[in-house]
Amino acid sequence: MRRGNMEEPAGERANLAGVRHIVLVLSGKGGVGKSTLSTELALALRSAGKRVGILDVDLCGPSIPRMLRVQDSAVHQCDSGWVPVFLGQDKAIALMSIGFLLERPDDAVVWRGPKKNALIKQFVTDVAWGDLDFLIVDTPPGTSDEHISTVEALRPHRLLGAVLVTTPQAVSVGDVRRELTFCRKAGLRILGIVENMSGFVCPHCSECTNIFSKGGGEELAKHAGVPFLGCVPLDPQLSQSLEEGKDFIQEFPKSSAFPALTHIAQQI
Ligand code: ADP
Repeated sequence: MRRGNMEEPAGERANLAGVRHIVLVLSGKGGVGKSTLSTELALALRSAGKRVGILDVDLCGPSIPRMLRVQDSAVHQCDSGWVPVFLGQDKAIALMSIGFLLERPDDAVVWRGPKKNALIKQFVTDVAWGDLDFLIVDTPPGTSDEHISTVEALRPHRLLGAVLVTTPQAVSVGDVRRELTFCRKAGLRILGIVENMSGFVCPHCSECTNIFSKGGGEELAKHAGVPFLGCVPLDPQLSQSLEEGKDFIQEFPKSSAFPALTHIAQQI
């Protein structure tokens, strides 16, 4: 790990005092678009004039720095803790990720639970976020040590809630059901469910084709008595431009996911 690692003393700093809302983004399984959605949500909130931070606690698969093309950035320490990496032309989005603490971006994090828990606690207490309207927290898939540590560390915050991400298929919806149980056991407020990769909007004729089944997320939300926040379409152009290393912050407002995310951002 680079300089600024977890051997530094963890002070009891009031670094979340200026953060109004904290939104945990959870999913039952990997690959449903949780990191993409966390980033899109942050960008949509930013477009609505909000001050936003992203905390990436997906310790074993930190993908947001790469998605936002800041994987070579490093964080440094100031008197009040770690200074996050600031993104965008106006440097208005703050990002903290374990990716910034690794010597090489492809280094694997092979840690047991206690070490992961210690780093998560430090991420919560020791990052100098400043004043934020929203802190979006991208979590690993499932309900593991990282989730328990994150919820325990953030629980004192008044406005903490969770957004659950699923794809339309039954297997992913089933995993979200387990995630709902986790939230309830952990006493976490559920802000709602998002169905990602929900239909493909043809860029030529604007017709929507449901490649997978549709409506699983909405049905689950109804059944569980939690808000359904909306569907985000499959946008192959967006994922292709990410593969090609295009600038996500520039590309996202042009994507077919942008209106959906704007709508979701208004509800949380
Ligand atoms: P997770 O964090 O749940 O593991 P990711 O956010 O890394 O998932 O997304 C997995 C892959 O799916 C990535 O290649 C991403 O670009 C792609 N993806 C996610 N959401 C969409 C979408 N709405 N349209 C097209 N591709 C998407």
